[in-house]
Amino acid sequence: MFNPLDSVRIQLSSAFNQLGYPESALEQFLIPDNLEEHQISITKDNGETFTTTAYRSEHRNTLGPYKGGIRFHQDVHKDEVIALSIWMSLKNALVNIPMGGGKGGVVVDPKSLTKTELEQLSREFVRKMVNILGPHKDVPAPDVGTTPEIMSWMVDEFEKLTGDTTKATFTGKPLDNGGSLGRNIATSYGGKVVLDAWVKLHNLETPLTVAVQGMGNVGGGFVQLLANDPKYKLVAVTDSSSGIYNPDGLDPQAVFDHKQNSGNLSGFNADPITNPDLLLLAVDILVPSALEGVINADNANQVQAKIILELANGPTTAQADDILHGKTIVIPDILANAGGVAVSSFEWEQNLKNENWTEADVLSRLTTTMQSAMTDIANLKEQHPQATLRQLAQMVALTRLLKDVPASR
Ligand code: NAD
Repeated sequence: MFNPLDSVRIQLSSAFNQLGYPESALEQFLIPDNLEEHQISITKDNGETFTTTAYRSEHRNTLGPYKGGIRFHQDVHKDEVIALSIWMSLKNALVNIPMGGGKGGVVVDPKSLTKTELEQLSREFVRKMVNILGPHKDVPAPDVGTTPEIMSWMVDEFEKLTGDTTKATFTGKPLDNGGSLGRNIATSYGGKVVLDAWVKLHNLETPLTVAVQGMGNVGGGFVQLLANDPKYKLVAVTDSSSGIYNPDGLDPQAVFDHKQNSGNLSGFNADPITNPDLLLLAVDILVPSALEGVINADNANQVQAKIILELANGPTTAQADDILHGKTIVIPDILANAGGVAVSSFEWEQNLKNENWTEADVLSRLTTTMQSAMTDIANLKEQHPQATLRQLAQMVALTRLLKDVPASR
């Protein structure tokens, strides 16, 4: 079974090595500062008790409070939550925001619960974790299966338990409850800033064909951003249960609206396509925006995309990275999807200062943040010309995170 923690270990070993850190430093780095694991129970609408497991991994707070989403998904497991928290430490360090790395998860299919049950579960998560959370301690956000509404329930429960009224303990909140303008589109927007810069830098011939896996917050937002941008031609999109394909191009806004209105992609006027087939399409740009490990040793040989923009966390395994090396450029997750946490940190800052920034201001700060991370990567490439983009991104982050750990050279 795919274990994202093994993937993190393999992917990081080269960056540690190139920076001159011993193997023991990597093993130390893989251990989170704190791991919370709790049984949580709620009473379902039919009176039955539902019990499940909730995790919060606090990886490092070297650069600021632990920060990272909470995932509600039936396949959540401990190593996955730890791996995701390590990715958050790296991502936050790479884009140079004053945040550490954390991640939470609850083993549950949120679609199997009613709204009242979901609210109970969200509030119970906070009751179990209240002692570790706080604006200057640990600041969660939404992830797969969680929403701004869930953040609202959580911030309300936190306020009731602690009296903290800053709302700065959770980000990704609705606008009318301390959220930030620009947060809903931030991850996709940041990814597109990076992709646009890559296309421009390498003077790529346009239009470039694009396939997107996942039509949630991130994939859906990205599809929407492709509307009215003649550089890109969207040809395929999937979600967990359906997929559509048209080699002549799909109208991004129409696809987005269809998904918003009907909840899935079926019924859209295009050929059907499965998730495994979408990943193997001969497109210029493949944008995995769903779950981790989808590009792996079993299918990487058949991937034909020229560029993979990793909007999901960890969609490409370490084995797949090796197979893709030399044939596909992988724009790594810790850069490609860092826009979400960057704007989350802006939301946190606005809450703490009691300010409300305009969307234009937020997106302009986000663009500067993403461009600055790309410059740091480009500068490091001069010293490590053979390193992949993933290794360079990790090295920029590790240099900030491990500044007190002695390297041998
Ligand atoms: P989401 O729950 O809003 O959407 C997930 C999407 O993936 C849905 O369209 C769902 O149908 C699809 N999906 C689920 N299982 C699938 C499968 N087996 N095959 C294909 N599609 C499947 O989640 P999201 O917030 O969009 O997050 C997606 C990814 O982006 C995750 O890896 C998450 O960690 C990462 N991410 C999210 C943010 C953010 O701001 N939300 C920020 C950084 C990274």
